[in-house]
Amino acid sequence: MRRLAGLALALALTAPIATLAWGQPVDDLQREDALIQTIGWRLSHANARFCPRTAPGIGLLLGDAQTYQDPAAARAAYGLSGDIAVAAVSADGPAARAGLETNRVITAVAGTPVGPAPRQGSWDRVWRLQAALEQTAATTGSVALTLADGRTVTVAGAPSCAVRFLLDDGQGDAQATRAQIRVGRETLARLGGDEPMIAALLAHELAHAALDHETWLASAPRTTQRVRRTEREADRLSVWILANAGYDPQAAVRMIGQLEPRRLFGIAEPSHGSARARAGEMATEIAVLRAQPDADWATRFRREP
Ligand SMILES: [Zn+2]
Repeated sequence: MRRLAGLALALALTAPIATLAWGQPVDDLQREDALIQTIGWRLSHANARFCPRTAPGIGLLLGDAQTYQDPAAARAAYGLSGDIAVAAVSADGPAARAGLETNRVITAVAGTPVGPAPRQGSWDRVWRLQAALEQTAATTGSVALTLADGRTVTVAGAPSCAVRFLLDDGQGDAQATRAQIRVGRETLARLGGDEPMIAALLAHELAHAALDHETWLASAPRTTQRVRRTEREADRLSVWILANAGYDPQAAVRMIGQLEPRRLFGIAEPSHGSARARAGEMATEIAVLRAQPDADWATRFRREP
C-alpha cells in the first residue's frame, strides 16, 4: 500500500488546496513517479525502432487514492476531487504535450467510467484502468480521457517499446518481466537522483524485457550460469539503449559502481558477476557500439553464445 512521502507533504496537508499548483508533483513519491515515467518514456520511445514488441504509448500513469494507506489524506494532499487521477506524466511524452498534468482527476477512460472504489488498498481498479488506457492506445493509436471538469482530452500515441515502467515503494530492487519493469524506491535512493545512472538502471531492465529473458529463463532449469548469461546480455545491451536515448553509455559503468557493494537486483553475486567484471564488459561493449555507424541494436547487437 502506498504511503504519502516527503517534506512537501507537511506543507500540502496544512495549506489550502487552492494554493497547490496544478501539474506539480506534491511529494517525493510523486516526484519519483514522474522521474521514472519520464526516463522510461525517453528510453522506450527512442528505442521503439529496435524493440521486438512495440505499441503506441502515451506516457501517462494513473493513480488511485484507494491504494493509499489513508485515501482521504491522499486526496487532500494531492488536491483531488475523486480517487482516480493522473499519478505521473512523462515530461516529453504525448500526454504531457496534450496538456495532461499530475493530479488531474479522471472520470472515464476511453469513454468508460472509472467505476466504483475497490476495497481499500486494492490495486485492481487502477490496473484495470491503466490496462484499458494502454490497450486502447495500442489498438486504435489514441485514447480519450474524461476529466472531472467535463473536458475530454484525446491523446495520440507515439511509438514505444511495449513495456510499462513502475516505481514500487514496497520493494527494494529492480526487476523486469517481458512487459513490466519495477524499480524499488530504495534502489532509486541509492542512485541519489542522478538521471543518467537511473536511466542506466532502467536500460538494463528494458534490455531484459526486450530480449524476453523471462521466457528464456522459464524454458529450462534456472541455473546460475543461465541467469549470468541474461545479466551479461542486459548489461551489454543497456549501453546501446542509453546511446539511442541520448544518454552517455558510461553512466552504466558508473551505476554498477554506485550500487556495489550491496547486491544488485536482488540476486546474489555469482549470477550477476562482480561489479568490476560487469564494468569491464560494459566498457568493452561501449567500444563495440562506438565502432558502429549507428546504435541499431536490432541488427548490430551480438547475443551471448
Ligand atoms: Zn538484471
